[in-house]
Amino acid sequence: MESKLMDPFGRVHDYLRISVTDRCNLRCVYCMPEEGMQFEPTERILSYEEITSIVKALAPLGIRKLRLTGGEPLVRKGLDQLIAMLSAIPGIEDIALTTNGIYLAAYADRLKSAGLTRVNISLDSLKPERFARITRGGKVDRVLEGIKASQRAGFQPIKLNVVLMKGVNDDEVEDFLRMTLEAPIDIRFIEYMPIGDSGGNWKSSYLPLEHVLKTCGDKWNYESCGDVYGNGPADSYRIAGAAGTFGLIHPVSSHFCGSCNRLRLTADGNIKPCLYWSDEYNVRPLVGDDKAVQDLFYKALGSKPETHDMVKALKGQQIDGTPTLRHMSQIGG
Ligand code: SAM
Ligand code: SF4
Repeated sequence: MESKLMDPFGRVHDYLRISVTDRCNLRCVYCMPEEGMQFEPTERILSYEEITSIVKALAPLGIRKLRLTGGEPLVRKGLDQLIAMLSAIPGIEDIALTTNGIYLAAYADRLKSAGLTRVNISLDSLKPERFARITRGGKVDRVLEGIKASQRAGFQPIKLNVVLMKGVNDDEVEDFLRMTLEAPIDIRFIEYMPIGDSGGNWKSSYLPLEHVLKTCGDKWNYESCGDVYGNGPADSYRIAGAAGTFGLIHPVSSHFCGSCNRLRLTADGNIKPCLYWSDEYNVRPLVGDDKAVQDLFYKALGSKPETHDMVKALKGQQIDGTPTLRHMSQIGG
């Protein structure tokens, strides 16, 4: 079915990213401050029934793909129940999860049985000490166990999200690329984005992703491999003979706003038409009235900006508009 969710720029939306919590068991340096986070009280967070009701209202309009994110979605109890509820909605074809992987070893099988179709795991370093520094305390072994458990559970391919940071993990590109040689793993290198106050040191750590192609080309032959299903805005490549692929997601240096097909729902029930800007529409009071929910989504779409201004932020240029004050963990990435 053709989506009815079209914005003023002709972009058709079939994808909803749902944040199920603003809480997290890690404190990644680019996402959350070390201290002082104010979390939403539980009663302000959408219940699973409310999330399901919103998706039921949107499926007839053409939403087909969902992604559960957070905060860390697996810190919320019973996520498999939500997945089962969502996968039973007619029209929903694909339910993906973005997770830091810390709890994945314990839940991968259950999530798969409940109807989860795909999993993205965030992993910015393979070095235990460095991983602990970036995540402020995480144990990389747990993530690696989570990756193995996901493979055993039958998720394929597994996607790994790597936020590339100058002077922090840019010397590990080769190690990550090497992971694609034997296993059907897709590594997605992501540019560091200036969301919320995601670090006063954003500009000094920001690194354009040409670095990845240069590192790869120095070592291997590789070729562009077109559209890998579910890769969204990533340009995808494969090292000659490799089982997996790698992709570059460069929202800052080369934005992909022209093909944006996504809407976001925060854990506290706000529709965000764009990751970058502050505009939000609180849908929670309308839940249960499908027509009103649909109308608010149409209104949010009607105000969706043509593009974000991250590149202006990078160049220190004047920005016309108000960037969001939320941290990435309060939006879901
Ligand atoms: N906790 C889960 C995780 O880490 O995968 C899901 C939520 S996290 C906010 C979603 C994604 O956003 C992760 O892949 C994370 O690396 C990415 N992210 C967070 N802050 C970012 C930033 N400032 N720039 C680029 N990516 C960021
Ligand atoms: Fe938590 Fe994910 Fe943000 Fe890291 S990136 S602090 S794991 S929400």
